[in-house]
Amino acid sequence: MSALRGHELYRFFHVGDDETPALRGVDVQLEAGKMVALVGPSGSGKSTLLACLAGLDEPDGGHVDVMGERLSRRPEATRARLRARHIGMLMQSGNLFDHLTVSSNIALQIELSGKGEQGSLLQRLGIGEHGDAMPSQLSGGEAARAGLAVALAADPDILICDEPTAEVDADTEHRILEFLDERRRAGCAILVATHSASLAQCADRILRIKDGRIVHD
Ligand code: ADP
Ligand code: MG
Repeated sequence: MSALRGHELYRFFHVGDDETPALRGVDVQLEAGKMVALVGPSGSGKSTLLACLAGLDEPDGGHVDVMGERLSRRPEATRARLRARHIGMLMQSGNLFDHLTVSSNIALQIELSGKGEQGSLLQRLGIGEHGDAMPSQLSGGEAARAGLAVALAADPDILICDEPTAEVDADTEHRILEFLDERRRAGCAILVATHSASLAQCADRILRIKDGRIVHD
């Protein structure tokens, strides 16, 4: 069984009379303990695919299964339950509630999912001293790591990251990479959209997307 499977996914956006086909029949499978890098030009459909796989957005065609259960076209409450139990998501932005400290953001995630522990996540990500900080006080790199800590707080089976190293320096990128590798070895199924060559190099498999389609070399 795949940890996460997207089957023949389609997604269309409409603005006025214009239709943008963001996904055009995408198949993707993630396995436990493997990291897949999703690579493609800006506007190729990476964020849309990640949002559909995480159950944050609904595909217009096709379906998503998570740990053998149907995630797509289910009531929001069902999707939220499956998401909380199985999926950690690091979006391009907006991973932290602005009015809560970093530690409270993590605590909220743990409460929502009913599992996980605060533990030493922040220390291990090198931002141990920022637990009491408000998100607005963090630098870009610190915010990326705090977002990752929230995504991983409930020890998810599946981790989906949208360009986690886009706004960080080389040191921080290295730290994030090591951390993703550690989660992979612990059995997490990981999908990372990225423009980073070093991140893609670490992946077990590279998935290339262009104009909403997976391209095979
Ligand atoms: P990427 O993450 O690879 O840069 P996106 O998934 O964000 O690509 O976008 C894919 C295509 O869908 C782009 O053409 C983008 O403009 C369009 N798109 C994404 N989200 C929306 C939206 N909410 N409304 C309209 N068009 C959108
Ligand atoms: Mg994107």
